[in-house]
Amino acid sequence: MKARTLKPTKVNVITLGCSKNTFDSEVLMAQLKASDVAVEHQGTGGDHNVVVINTCGFIENAKQESIDMILNYAKAKDQGLVEKVYVTGCLSQRYGPELQAEIPQVDAWFGTRDLPRLLKTLKADYKHELVGERLLTTPAHYAYFKISEGCDRKCSFCAIPLMRGKHVSTPLDQLVQSARQLAANGTRELILIAQDLTYYGLDLYGKRNLNELLARLSDVEGIDWIRLHYAFPSGFPMEALDVMKERANICKYLDMPLQHGSSSVLKRMRRGITQEKTERLVDDIRERVPGIAIRTTLIAGFPGETEAEHEDGLRWIERMRFDRLGCFTYSHEEDTHAFTLPDDVPFEVKQERAHAMMELQGGISFELNQAKVGRTCRVLVDKAEGGFYHARTEHDSPEVDNDVLIPTAAGHLRIGDFAEVRITAAREHELEAVPVQG
Ligand code: SF4
Repeated sequence: MKARTLKPTKVNVITLGCSKNTFDSEVLMAQLKASDVAVEHQGTGGDHNVVVINTCGFIENAKQESIDMILNYAKAKDQGLVEKVYVTGCLSQRYGPELQAEIPQVDAWFGTRDLPRLLKTLKADYKHELVGERLLTTPAHYAYFKISEGCDRKCSFCAIPLMRGKHVSTPLDQLVQSARQLAANGTRELILIAQDLTYYGLDLYGKRNLNELLARLSDVEGIDWIRLHYAFPSGFPMEALDVMKERANICKYLDMPLQHGSSSVLKRMRRGITQEKTERLVDDIRERVPGIAIRTTLIAGFPGETEAEHEDGLRWIERMRFDRLGCFTYSHEEDTHAFTLPDDVPFEVKQERAHAMMELQGGISFELNQAKVGRTCRVLVDKAEGGFYHARTEHDSPEVDNDVLIPTAAGHLRIGDFAEVRITAAREHELEAVPVQG
């Protein structure tokens, strides 16, 4: 077998998990490119000799997916198909030492805040002047925009603070500079992400400062949509909604994981909020920003969850009529507080309850979508596929929300451009539309 060089010929970056990992991979790739290290993302060709796997360690399924990917490349290394395998991200942060013993083919393990060391290992320099720069892996017209790292909350089921550490806000000026760079490169939609978006600024400015950040980002020329993900309910900075309401380029959209509708379950989850307070908050948000679309995420089968608590949660979903809803089955994560509770809801029951929530939401989503038939709206065109343009309204985030399908035969639209369309048909999680002739 031909001896291989030490310097990477090409680095293949594999990203697993959430949009925050996507962001981190994009930062890594920009740094590598700036050091003239060839790089690709999710490459499947054979022309790379080094692999960096950016892993997820959130819940059981995600951990297994990361381990399978590592084992896949460990095998490729044994077969001489790649020379070096490096692992970074949340799973590595959480289980690095244990996994190191089990998978010796991995050349090194890095944590979630180890970029300079990883770059050094890849024969690249960490360039401060590049802070905020990214090699986008999303279509150029939208970008995930991480405004802070880590989380100070104590939700009993969550291992994220163990992997991502304490909350650290990115300075406002740095974020505005990054937004300008992205806009200059053609990005039109910023999708704001964090572990806890609403905590922004508390560490740096001694106050919640999401409202000021939104106003500054909204002033960046070329940014047409700003979208908010991962808001935390208690202590919600209502003043941020006023900025959302007054600024046309801030989507009337809010993703706010609420985790459960039953007060007793919320208490055991250590969420610091009750069902009543959640309902009041959602009512206030809808009053403050008329027409806002609210997305939430819930957990089925938390320890001790009774049939009555589950039913209470279902009645709450019926009342709340969220625009978008996602659901996970509870995953028993060691080193979290909930791990001290018995994981006593059988897996089948967890799945049944998750299914019941999604089925209920499917009906709500269908009704809400039906009401949009005949209306005209502005959409952002993401791609053309299967005879349709796939687009989104301001109420839809990429990959998780509804698609607007526009027949390509109905007229030419440009990917990455906005278009006016009229809704012609609706299903649970999809709309059909035709372009409105200008
Ligand atoms: S706010 Fe989110 S990331 Fe933070 S502990 Fe709670 S669930 Fe985890």
